[in-house]
Amino acid sequence: MSSILHICIALIFSSTLYANINLIKKENSDSNTTLLVIGGIHGNEPGGYFAASILATHYTITSKNLWVIPNLNKESIIANKRGIHGDMNRKFSHVKEGDKDKAIIDAVKKIILSKKVSLVLNLHDGHGFYRKNNQGSIFNPNAWGQTCVIDQCELKQKHLFSNLNTIAQTVKNNVNKKLLKKHHSFNVKNTNTKYEDEAMQLSLTYFAVTNGKPAFAIETSKNLATLSQKVFYQLLAIEEYMKIMGITFTRDFALNATTVNKIIKNYGTLVINHNILLHLNNIKKSLSFIPLKLRGNEFCFSNPLGEVKRQRGNYLVYIGNKLITTLKPQYFKMSKNCQQKYRFIADGKEISLPKASEFFVNNDFKVIKSKKHRVNVIGYYKKDKVDESQIDISLKKLNKYYSIDNYNKIYRIEFYRSDEFCSMVLVHFK
Ligand SMILES: [Zn+2]
Repeated sequence: MSSILHICIALIFSSTLYANINLIKKENSDSNTTLLVIGGIHGNEPGGYFAASILATHYTITSKNLWVIPNLNKESIIANKRGIHGDMNRKFSHVKEGDKDKAIIDAVKKIILSKKVSLVLNLHDGHGFYRKNNQGSIFNPNAWGQTCVIDQCELKQKHLFSNLNTIAQTVKNNVNKKLLKKHHSFNVKNTNTKYEDEAMQLSLTYFAVTNGKPAFAIETSKNLATLSQKVFYQLLAIEEYMKIMGITFTRDFALNATTVNKIIKNYGTLVINHNILLHLNNIKKSLSFIPLKLRGNEFCFSNPLGEVKRQRGNYLVYIGNKLITTLKPQYFKMSKNCQQKYRFIADGKEISLPKASEFFVNNDFKVIKSKKHRVNVIGYYKKDKVDESQIDISLKKLNKYYSIDNYNKIYRIEFYRSDEFCSMVLVHFK
């Protein structure tokens, strides 16, 4: 038996919202040195934003500071497009009044210019594999993949990390010691932005560099075989930057493509309005009659890449660019007079659980009757029964169509008070 704590991401991490930007701060009091990592400026480059999300959730920073913006361009990530309002990475020297990205651009500029920020990484997945000599359409000097990108060799302003070229070369050399395949090798790409690259003059890193902030792009290749390989290289490179900055860390996994793949596929949980808990792994493609409010629903994901989009009356649940499930609502008033605890008999033993929790059973369960609520076990039907408490319910009495998971093992027990909704509790059959 277990119950999940439903704490919003905003409480798990020290997280601040600037103009809808989620900034997660992992800080220590020993130093002001701070690395700022920005994922998801381009919505169709998942290597960058899944890496940033793992950095935010699976790393502990033990000295100095790490700030992570996991998904800068959220709307474009959901759409899996480079930029639904144009290329966000070309709006940093000037952004028009009325541009839909303006609020985000203004806010992220402010974060970059924060006194504390010592070095900035902007994460991308780029085309091909960068090589100094032309070796065909994938391996050539115009490719971006597998590079540490710098705008110039050095910062004008003297700074602890002002020698961009030396830093990028060190990162590249160390990443190249851990390649999965030889042709994945990293290089340093100097765009020589001031003199040779007008487009890059509009970019985030050039904005940072011209404002005296050391900045780099990490580009893993879009041509790598899997997302986990892209995320693996992003994390490898980010760790090298942290080592150069003296940021010490631990992580709760071994850094290789297999474990990274497992972490990416763990979508975590979604808690809605503090009264509904959903596991997003193995959840069905769509769920009906989810008790929601007409307006102002609060969605709390354990995964920083979690987002909800409303479309044609439904709620589409995403982790990054992956559509996880579609929730079809049934609108209710939320009752203010609900119980704090709900009582059950699970396999013969009495248990008491808070709202939006869950429990496991081998054989059967029963909800203990209370005057304070009416019970609806979704998928159970007995003629003329309005309240489904005090009934022993086993798996075979439930209609699989109403399970929330693809294995047909998890079911919804819903509590109402007159016509108002109180909470959902999940029962898992083992
Ligand atoms: Zn990009």
